[in-house]
Amino acid sequence: MIVILNPDATEAQIQHIVNRASKLGLKSNISRGVERTVIGFIGPEDALRVIPLEVFPGVDQVMQVLAPYKLVSREFKKQDTVIKLKDRVNVGGKKLVVMAGPCSVEGYEPLLSVAKKVKALGATILRGGAFKPRTSPYDFQGLGEEGLKILQRVGRETGLCTISEVMDTRQVDLVARYVDVLQIGARNIQNFALLKEVGLIKKPVMLKRGMSTTVKEWLMSAEYLLSNGNFDVMLCERGIRTFETSTRNTLDVNAVAVAKKLTHLPVVVDPSHGTGHWQYVAAGARAGIAAGCDAIMVEVHDNPEEALSDGAQSLMPDKFQELMVSCRRVAQALDREI
Ligand code: PEP
Ligand code: MN
Repeated sequence: MIVILNPDATEAQIQHIVNRASKLGLKSNISRGVERTVIGFIGPEDALRVIPLEVFPGVDQVMQVLAPYKLVSREFKKQDTVIKLKDRVNVGGKKLVVMAGPCSVEGYEPLLSVAKKVKALGATILRGGAFKPRTSPYDFQGLGEEGLKILQRVGRETGLCTISEVMDTRQVDLVARYVDVLQIGARNIQNFALLKEVGLIKKPVMLKRGMSTTVKEWLMSAEYLLSNGNFDVMLCERGIRTFETSTRNTLDVNAVAVAKKLTHLPVVVDPSHGTGHWQYVAAGARAGIAAGCDAIMVEVHDNPEEALSDGAQSLMPDKFQELMVSCRRVAQALDREI
């Protein structure tokens, strides 16, 4: 259940509602939007039926949220969430955000080289994994904390914000110390212990859709983050498993449109993992933008042949430049900037 307040509801009126709900065993989450303030209740909702919330001072409307995800739903918050990074990057606004960089941080020099190039071409967030979820235990597992230090240093030197994956509850504080955005990868979408832990920190997070999760399950996982207090959540569509074998995954552009309709959270598209082949990455990025995403994440490497992970789907900087040119045209057609 959610309560929509009058635009002129006072703090005292809001607090009164929160206190009454708390006495009934419900936690309140307040979302202060530009147009309206909404209180969402978490807990045994039936308890609320005993009090006529409609007549409480400051209340405009009481609504039943039918979706199982409450705080991520558009019913809870009508306007798009905009996540501010370091007061210079806004994810979720009219301007599309570009995240780019290698799959893995491989060293200071190579990361700095790619970072400078992607920044010059319009990227504002530098990606690079330090803890890598690899199918084979014999494959490169990432540089760990050393990789995070390199990412932070290159971010500072170039003025780019940074994003890197956290795979384990024990790494949350460590990764959060070094990066601007924590990434929860496809394989951890239903690692509920990790979701709760990341929900408790004050750092933006990008939640990748699992390769076999429905949109509803994806949103329920996001609800774990919001219900634990972290509202700075962006969703990322990165392709799902289908019967198709010509691409690594099937980039589900439908899910972008669906997620934009159902939630207020920004949606990112990752056409690199979504296709798995560098030849198709730009097409995937353009499709994502056409479907209404707010950001794209692209793997870029100076020398994909030598990449320690995901070389086949990594773009050389010149191809990334072409991608940016074509994406800009799609964005303009949709009255967005990039
Ligand atoms: C990655 O971003 O490098 C990654 C491992 O992503 P995903 O979790 O989507 O496979
Ligand atoms: Mn990768």
